[in-house]
Amino acid sequence: MAKLEPMFVDITWGAGGTTSDLTMELASNFQQQFNLETQMHLTCTNISKESVTDALSKARSAGIRNILCLRGDPPAGQDKWQATEGGFNNAVDLVRYVKEQHGDYFGVSVAGYPEGHIDWFKGEEGADECARDDYMRDLQFLKDKVDAGADSIITQLFYDVDQYLQWVKDCREIGITVPIIPGIMPIGSYAGFFRMTGFCKTKIPQALKDGLNAVKDNEEAVKEFGVQIVTDMCRRLLDAGAPGLHIYTLNQENATIDILTNLGMLASASERKALPWRARIGNQQEDVRPIFWANRPRSYNQRTMKWGDYPSGRWGDSRSPAYGELTDYHLTQIHTGDEADRRSAYGAELSTTQDVNAMFAKFLRSEIKRLPWCVELITETNPIKFTLARICEAGMLTINSQPAVNGAPSVDAVHGWGGPGGVVYQKAYLELFCSKTMLDGIKAALPHYKSVQYSAVNAKGEFESSSKTKVTAVTWGVFPDREILQPTVVDEASFLVWKDEAFGLWNSQWKSLHADGSQSAKVLQEVHDSYYLVNIVDNDFINGNIFTFVDCALAKSSK
Ligand SMILES: Cc1cc2nc3c(=O)[nH]c(=O)nc-3n(C[C@H](O)[C@H](O)[C@H](O)COP(=O)(O)OP(=O)(O)OC[C@H]3O[C@@H](n4cnc5c(N)ncnc54)[C@H](O)[C@@H]3O)c2cc1C
Repeated sequence: MAKLEPMFVDITWGAGGTTSDLTMELASNFQQQFNLETQMHLTCTNISKESVTDALSKARSAGIRNILCLRGDPPAGQDKWQATEGGFNNAVDLVRYVKEQHGDYFGVSVAGYPEGHIDWFKGEEGADECARDDYMRDLQFLKDKVDAGADSIITQLFYDVDQYLQWVKDCREIGITVPIIPGIMPIGSYAGFFRMTGFCKTKIPQALKDGLNAVKDNEEAVKEFGVQIVTDMCRRLLDAGAPGLHIYTLNQENATIDILTNLGMLASASERKALPWRARIGNQQEDVRPIFWANRPRSYNQRTMKWGDYPSGRWGDSRSPAYGELTDYHLTQIHTGDEADRRSAYGAELSTTQDVNAMFAKFLRSEIKRLPWCVELITETNPIKFTLARICEAGMLTINSQPAVNGAPSVDAVHGWGGPGGVVYQKAYLELFCSKTMLDGIKAALPHYKSVQYSAVNAKGEFESSSKTKVTAVTWGVFPDREILQPTVVDEASFLVWKDEAFGLWNSQWKSLHADGSQSAKVLQEVHDSYYLVNIVDNDFINGNIFTFVDCALAKSSK
């Protein structure tokens, strides 16, 4: 599901609070290990104020910034919902508490009920509905939750689009202005659908009932019909201005994928990509990142997850208070695979540094699955991967790169970001490890390539650079009616932080696979101790060719 690039994933809080530890564990893992923006649900059922305080503080330490505040249903076997002594009476109490304790740190969502909350249903069996007065009262309670500080509303599942649209209108009329995201449940099976809608007392339009009854003995036909009808429903909702879809996937990932495909939401990933990298959502605005963590976004998110603000515009001033502490970082192992994965990818014995070069080339030719610095080749790298492999074989061990782009449409399938109507640009960039001799070759080539700049640092922190500025924007986009965006930069301060992580991976991920004192360990230690981490930017994004520069540097270093 992560590959579908959801805006965020929701982790439910087990009914009656029965699975709170599991909720917390899953939510933390989604946030930290999968790098997915996560919204954790929290309910008032069977929970004391102290336990809520504890849950919020754990969520905060795990980097979770979104909470769906709910009252919760009565625990199994109990008819009526009862407040816990010293706990909360309803969701509005919980919203107030979250705001009181954490200010704007968490993005807070609440639940909305287009058909009214079932507590107010008074009909005969099968004809449940809310009386008008109760419906309006329930709506007013929703407004209370928003007035208490909720930032958005996610709705209960429903299938009557007309009723939903009327309810949104009613919400707006009483002054609810926050985004309302419709809750959509795909139809996976006939029995499952009627079980869930029966439990929630959902109104089912006659056409949907008839359509399902007509195919009820054929599971495949039920699925097909379900995908079609839910797709039509989503299309209507989006056309009517819904800001997104909250899909109750409930393990029905195939139906979810089919619906999103029908809606064209998967094909247009580049159109939806607001920035070249996936930004965190939530209250804080992040609009610029150093390029160094492009292949290790989880590590970057881990480092910055507690930042209250991000520097805006250019990364210009890393001394700005908004820059936070990039060095505040503990999970050095993330994103690098377990030992068995690493061993099978790059655990072979090494006799000389030539073997190390060959391993990098193998990764670029997709012969091994990962390196300590990268776990997959991004689409942008495909056209240049064989050139990069050749450079690696020659001894410049590339770990990050981007090609020059001189004005691609912002919806370009490979380079596009920022939404339709814009034009995006980038400078060619290469980052690599190399020996002192190779670095000398790079320096000797520089006078022949005026548009090229480099910075280099070794494990001891000895730094040198030809750059006249501390920050260079390497990606930017021009959009109608907006300032020019410069979301990716090469900057000295971040490079010096990144170097510790980059050099650290030689030992923690690679050398650790070999016995102390072995030839392989010696080779890797030698590389770690004597090589430089180098970044190269070609500022001529129109006519420059960073690979001609690299070839020149290789030629100079072999003289
Ligand atoms: C998107 C979504 C996600 C959900 N996720 C979970 C989950 O993870 N775990 C789980 O256990 N349940 C979950 N639920 C179910 C939810 O807990 C139940 O629907 C619950 O009965 C109501 O929760 P609420 O937050 O809407 O409650 P509230 O907004 O507190 O409303 C509950 C009832 O009290 C009434 N009410 C509200 N304020 C007052 C007041 N001041 N005085 C009198 N009456 C009042 C409302 O009209 C309503 O009838 C989810 C529901 C939705 C829609």
